[in-house]
Amino acid sequence: MRSTQISLLLLASVAVTPSVAQIPSQPSRANPQQPVRPLEYGSFPDSWIHGGDCLNDPLIQVHAYNADTYILRQSMCTNFEGPFMFLLFGSEKVILLDTGAGNIPIAATVNGIIDDWLLANGKPSIDLIVAHTHSHGDHVQGDSQFAGQANATVVGLSPTAVASFFSIAPWPTEQETYDLGGRVLDVLGIPGHQQASIALYDRNTGLVLTGDSLYPGYIFLSSSNWNIYRSSISRLRDFIEPRQVSWILGTHIEMKSTPFSAYPYGANFQPDERILQLKKSHLRELDDALDLLPNATTQVHADFIING
Ligand SMILES: [Zn+2]
Ligand SMILES: [Zn+2]
Repeated sequence: MRSTQISLLLLASVAVTPSVAQIPSQPSRANPQQPVRPLEYGSFPDSWIHGGDCLNDPLIQVHAYNADTYILRQSMCTNFEGPFMFLLFGSEKVILLDTGAGNIPIAATVNGIIDDWLLANGKPSIDLIVAHTHSHGDHVQGDSQFAGQANATVVGLSPTAVASFFSIAPWPTEQETYDLGGRVLDVLGIPGHQQASIALYDRNTGLVLTGDSLYPGYIFLSSSNWNIYRSSISRLRDFIEPRQVSWILGTHIEMKSTPFSAYPYGANFQPDERILQLKKSHLRELDDALDLLPNATTQVHADFIING
């Protein structure tokens, strides 16, 4: 049955040895209360499922970035959006970011990963938090699969619900921390692309999760949310700049591996797509570009497209 298919090969081939080029060199200066310690590294697969083999591809590709961090991709055969989802384990809680665009067994897949993790870590249970990078339909369709599940809390979709859960007050300018148990996440409200958008910074891995607010593809904006988005990206940059960042991870890929070129929006077969991960320099590039664009504008960059 397709619902149980998982990329076991990928799970089995996790390499956690960092390359020299991946090691951030600058410790945090502007955040002296945060102890500087080596980041926990992870790996990416050689390629993601991209609509290439709808008979044999899994509905969800599960990739263990490291032992406590999973990246999931929804098959583009089920929905052209092919969104990415993230599962981060701490010692007390595990958080799922996004539940996909529908027609995938996200709860069964996530619960299977959790069961394996519990076994490997000798724990009887763990609390699951189901949260969202933002509330657009292609990121929340699987929420109902978690309804009524013991030990699972599904965070609401409104800015008020998100701010309340993460204790962000005032929304969105105050940032807060969320502790999974030995794994602290910084949570920033970054409305713009969508009014409940958040970004997460994981102090253990240095990963920055940006949802649809920065990813290698079309960053959809409108004149009504343009200035809100600009100020959110500026605040995110200010926060991220002094911190150790391994990678910035968004929730789609629409760029090709060739710079400045993208698949048409709606494509469900992307044989030559760009890698998912972006760098801190991409956030700087985005923020600098927005500073020079007073109105909603479309501007094609090498690795992302401001689609205003
Ligand atoms: Zn979106
Ligand atoms: Zn999306």
